[in-house]
Amino acid sequence: MRVVIVGAGPAGLSLHHLLRARGHEVHLIERARSFDRIGYGIGLWGNAWRILEELGAADTVSRSATAVDHWQLRDAAGRVLGDIRLQPTPGRKTTAADAEPRPFSVIHRAELHDALWTGVPDAVVTMGTTVEAVEQDDGGATLTLSDGSRQRADVLVGADGVHSRVRQLVFGVEPRDLGTAAWGFRIPPGVDLPDGFTELLGEDGKALLLVGMPGTRMATLSMRVPSERVVEDPLAYLRAHSREWILPEILDAVAATDAEIFFDRNREADLARFDRGRVVLIGDAAHALHPIVGMGASLALEDAWVLADQLGAAGIGQEPALEGFTHRRRGPVRRARREAALARRLVLTENAAMRRLRDFLATRASWFGGSFARRAARLSRPPSERL
Ligand SMILES: Cc1cc2nc3c(=O)[nH]c(=O)nc-3n(C[C@H](O)[C@H](O)[C@H](O)COP(=O)(O)OP(=O)(O)OC[C@H]3O[C@@H](n4cnc5c(N)ncnc54)[C@H](O)[C@@H]3O)c2cc1C
Repeated sequence: MRVVIVGAGPAGLSLHHLLRARGHEVHLIERARSFDRIGYGIGLWGNAWRILEELGAADTVSRSATAVDHWQLRDAAGRVLGDIRLQPTPGRKTTAADAEPRPFSVIHRAELHDALWTGVPDAVVTMGTTVEAVEQDDGGATLTLSDGSRQRADVLVGADGVHSRVRQLVFGVEPRDLGTAAWGFRIPPGVDLPDGFTELLGEDGKALLLVGMPGTRMATLSMRVPSERVVEDPLAYLRAHSREWILPEILDAVAATDAEIFFDRNREADLARFDRGRVVLIGDAAHALHPIVGMGASLALEDAWVLADQLGAAGIGQEPALEGFTHRRRGPVRRARREAALARRLVLTENAAMRRLRDFLATRASWFGGSFARRAARLSRPPSERL
């Protein structure tokens, strides 16, 4: 089968590896001319590790990722509300060959991308190009690309992220602004950070994740920003709206070093189906959700795994089972969306009473720790059992 994947992010690259291993012919279309280093910390749960193992990328990823064994929750003044030891996920080996699940870890997006990019032959990627039109018939899809060329695919996969062009062209669906925005940056040396993984539950609907571990110092911040508000200078905007704990000091240091900043509004895409004819969406293109639950990349890897499983090994005259993909992915996506909506309402709240409730729950380390442990245990089961 010839599969054309639009978008070489975590979803597209993982799918590429899985399909080539099954003998399919794969071509990637990527809009960027080269990949930038801007990004944010990505939390890797057991489900992502399991699939990275299968891709052969887990060891490379683990060299750049930092395992998190400790999670501290602080209020806007920097007072410690809760201090949670993250127990190693109970190992559940189903076969002797099955690896122990790796611990919840954080990695910079650019480093995850580098690891997934390893082993992609130049010949199967067209960089600096996007798709302008898609026509479908019974046998496949024909794409017109921005360089004027055309490509024929038995299956076309939209893995082109939250602003997906494939979704727009084939499904006619635009993402919805969630009224919040995210910033991500590395923290310059010189700022005295607490050790480990710290979550600051801030004011005005703000939450800041700080990673202060040897070799890994980065921040990811979400904050309410009204949909109609145009943010021309993300760093200046953030500095004008940040007075919590060490945040002003961090932002002064970032401004002084000209560190690169990731900024984007948070949007979600909510579709009833992820397939239409010979076209299927995976990753954020299919179901972008709020980053507060730290699940998007893990879901993207799961999508790649399930789609590769649906397409099976390469065979002549085989009909791609794309409806089955929607069927298998709908439940997990719905669940992650529910968790994201709940976390967004609780953590990014502007309401004073909700904020007090949030800070009170944070003092109950067992409440946060318990919900983390349950999710970690659920997600660490092998994909063949869970997906
Ligand atoms: C601040 C923040 C924090 C996050 N934290 C976490 C976390 O802790 N854990 C987690 O699992 N997830 C997290 N996520 C979500 C995660 O980053 C995404 O869900 C994940 O990157 C989705 O992967 P993807 O491959 O579907 O899309 P993307 O990563 O967006 O990749 C899409 C690719 O397609 C390319 N592309 C885009 N448009 C086109 C086009 N028209 N034509 C061709 N190519 C195109 C892009 O250049 C890119 O290479 C976070 C997100 C944000 C914003």
